[in-house]
Amino acid sequence: MTPRLEERVHQLVHAHRPHLEQLVRAAVDRELQALVDAELASRNGNGAAPSAATKICTECGNRLPVDRFDRNRNQCRACRTRRYARAPRTRTSKTTVNGDGPRTG
Ligand SMILES: [Zn+2]
Repeated sequence: MTPRLEERVHQLVHAHRPHLEQLVRAAVDRELQALVDAELASRNGNGAAPSAATKICTECGNRLPVDRFDRNRNQCRACRTRRYARAPRTRTSKTTVNGDGPRTG
C-alpha cells in the first residue's frame, strides 16, 4: 500500500465530498424507494398496481377502482347497467306473457 495513493484518494474524496454525499443520498433514496415498492407489492398479494383500492369485476374481469362499483357489488356499474338493460327479456320463458310489450328506451 503506497501512502501516496491513499493521500491522493483522501484529497479527491475531500474535494468532491459534497458531490459524493449527494450521490450517496440519491442512491439511498432510490434503494429505499425500491424497498418500499417491493414491500407494498408483496403486501398487495399479486404485485399489481399498489395504488388506490381496486376490485375485479366478476362480469367483465377488469380491475377497476372501487368507486366504479356500487357498494357491496362485485360487478362494475357499466356491467350492471348493461345487464339490467337486457335482463327482463333473457329470463326463462316461464314468465307469463301478459300482453305488456317490452318498451325500448
Ligand atoms: Zn364490469
